[in-house]
Amino acid sequence: MAETENMNSESSAGAALAKRAAGLPQSSTVAIADLAAALRRQDTAVVDFSAGRAAEASPDSVCRAAAEAMARGETHQTPARGRTDYLQAVAAKLSRDNGLELAADRHVIATLGCKQGLVLALFSCLDPGDEVIIEDPCFVSYEPTIRLAGGVPVRVPLRPQNHYRWSAGDLAAAVSDKTKAMLFCSPHNPTGTVHSGRDLQIIADFAISHDLVVIADEIYEAVAWGGRKHIPLAGLPGMQSRTIGLMGLTKTYSMGGWRIGYAYSSQPIIDTMVVLQQHLMTCAGSFTQAGAAAALSASQTEAMAPLWQDWQERCHYLTTALNDIPALRAAMPEGGFYAWVDIADTGLDSMAFSQRLLSDRHVAVVPGRAFGEASDRYVRATCVRSWDELREGVRRIGEFAAAL
Ligand code: PMP
Repeated sequence: MAETENMNSESSAGAALAKRAAGLPQSSTVAIADLAAALRRQDTAVVDFSAGRAAEASPDSVCRAAAEAMARGETHQTPARGRTDYLQAVAAKLSRDNGLELAADRHVIATLGCKQGLVLALFSCLDPGDEVIIEDPCFVSYEPTIRLAGGVPVRVPLRPQNHYRWSAGDLAAAVSDKTKAMLFCSPHNPTGTVHSGRDLQIIADFAISHDLVVIADEIYEAVAWGGRKHIPLAGLPGMQSRTIGLMGLTKTYSMGGWRIGYAYSSQPIIDTMVVLQQHLMTCAGSFTQAGAAAALSASQTEAMAPLWQDWQERCHYLTTALNDIPALRAAMPEGGFYAWVDIADTGLDSMAFSQRLLSDRHVAVVPGRAFGEASDRYVRATCVRSWDELREGVRRIGEFAAAL
């Protein structure tokens, strides 16, 4: 009886849910990770290429810097904009590595990761019904976050024949009198595209001619391969005032659990994001900012270089090995750390491929359709797992494909 009452009260609670919250799709990345976790609980050795994180833990010296800040009692709220030492480390890093001259006290804000930077960016520039041009395929959280902020996402394809870049023609076809902003990612998750100056100029010209804000997700900026270097859109003439750059330490410093990142833009936009931060989250964590300041120092960035170099080799290994499997096609990413694998020749769609690979051979990858319905012939595999996992994963995927 009590159970029936419980169930009834649970289902009537469902009626209380807001449509915009209840209607949100679960992230497919999370769904596959949950399945993998369930297998692990049964002591199955899963090779996890699904989660977008490296095998390494956060750097020791960075952990020590955060622990020392805690021990000094730096455990209280910081200003909403962030700690001065962190903001200064961010401004110094943006100048040193990205050629952007920004003021620590005006042009940057500490965020709780790149995702939260995106929330602040969208809430600071969108009115209800404003359209935001996004890439297709794109990171799974863009569409839901834009919708929560009252905006309308408009997908513009990244065509393989255009090397996964927007074309001026496709952008022109997508713009309307409601378009307010564009959101793009370079180095790109999931396709691995790194925008050249020419690619960026197409975006800049378009944004200027239609008076748009551009949100640039630059979370993978430190990992561009083959001698490429990330170029920030904000550095192009006329773009600093209309670009919101989002960066973070989750990926390149293996600091995903810290929830720390930063955003930079013009003073009016950052000041607005600071007010939003006061109400939404108060501030990023005090000792996490202290650790992140240490991570962004010149010496720590230099200390990361050999690891990032090894990641390049892991990306090369995994994409080459997968491409050698007859039914699969994969190319070395220009940057970031994912293999974007064409599975069309297997005859399976991306969900069937991912589910069967996980249940039959215990390898987790992300179905391409998580990044957009047009990407159902792809799956995404994270290349920066340990070398042992990579070799074992390749062996199992080869057996899986051969048995299809
Ligand atoms: N943007 C992209 C393109 C990502 O791949 C991710 C992580 N998967 C994020 C943002 C989220 O980053 P953070 O952990 O800093 O919020």
